[in-house]
Amino acid sequence: MRTMVLHGPRPVESAPLVMEERPVPRPGAHQLLVRVLHCGVCRTDLHVVEGDLVPLRPTIVPGHEVVGTVEQAGPEVHDWVQGEIVGVPWLQGTCGTCAYCLSGRENLCVAKTFTGYSVDGGYADHVVADARYALRLPTGKPDRLAPLLCAGIIGYRALRLSNPPPSGRIGFFGFGGSAHLTLALAARLGFRTVAYSRNPEHLALARRLGAAGAVRTGEAQPTEPDLDAAIVFAPAGEVVLQALRQVKKGATVAIAAIHLSPIPSIDYDRLLFGERRLVSVEANTRADAREFLDLAGRVGLESTVERRPLERANEALVDLKAGRVNGALVLDCAES
Ligand SMILES: [Zn+2]
Ligand SMILES: [Zn+2]
Repeated sequence: MRTMVLHGPRPVESAPLVMEERPVPRPGAHQLLVRVLHCGVCRTDLHVVEGDLVPLRPTIVPGHEVVGTVEQAGPEVHDWVQGEIVGVPWLQGTCGTCAYCLSGRENLCVAKTFTGYSVDGGYADHVVADARYALRLPTGKPDRLAPLLCAGIIGYRALRLSNPPPSGRIGFFGFGGSAHLTLALAARLGFRTVAYSRNPEHLALARRLGAAGAVRTGEAQPTEPDLDAAIVFAPAGEVVLQALRQVKKGATVAIAAIHLSPIPSIDYDRLLFGERRLVSVEANTRADAREFLDLAGRVGLESTVERRPLERANEALVDLKAGRVNGALVLDCAES
């Protein structure tokens, strides 16, 4: 099978992923062998490839927004059949026994594993995955479903943690794959949404997706705080301050980033006092994922995607890093 393999983190501009032929793996007792159709390119992949996240293995195949078909199920798998469409997300496994797992917070599990980070992921034409963490998807085009599997699910958890009041005004800071899906969902759920970005094309997309406002950052002077909630998607600490400046008293700023540059010092009196809250978002539970995918199906949520062939994964990551992608990036992984 064809795989794009990372042998130690390096800047994406140096084309660190290498195309390698490997034997197709056999599924373990609780695993599925999945024939990959598409795999989304998430910002977390960039952090894995460039080493912002500490490498866990000498080599890794990135990719954790996998949409494919079940090719073979392990002997202990009874709820998936061959040929069925399946989603393989970031959360690949949890211990089931730690205090977090036992209290319904498996996203905080002390021993959780991740697709495309602790085990090989979907930048390949086949992948094996634990069937107990695989997800059923709403109907839709497979390429447009792929970004739902991380960008969508994590964005949904961030939206919940940002705790907006009904029809409240929510700010989206940094407008990539996750923000565009979450804004579209929030708009359909009746919230008033405002996108903040330096990129005019991102703001135009936000408008098309139903944003009530689109603010070009770096140009506009900060206005009076008018947001009831905010979500920071950009992996930049200074953006957290921008968001804090825009939220009203009592509002929450949720940070939907697995890695963030340091947050500059916070002026407590101006930016945090007034019971403003700052919260990070770590992964998701399976319940979050199922709830989100069910909701996405009911409201007909679809991502806006740009597609690239698997062998051009390096270039895809360079474009993502440079902010040249409008919506989400998806790799075409099926054997031609
Ligand atoms: Zn656990
Ligand atoms: Zn992701």
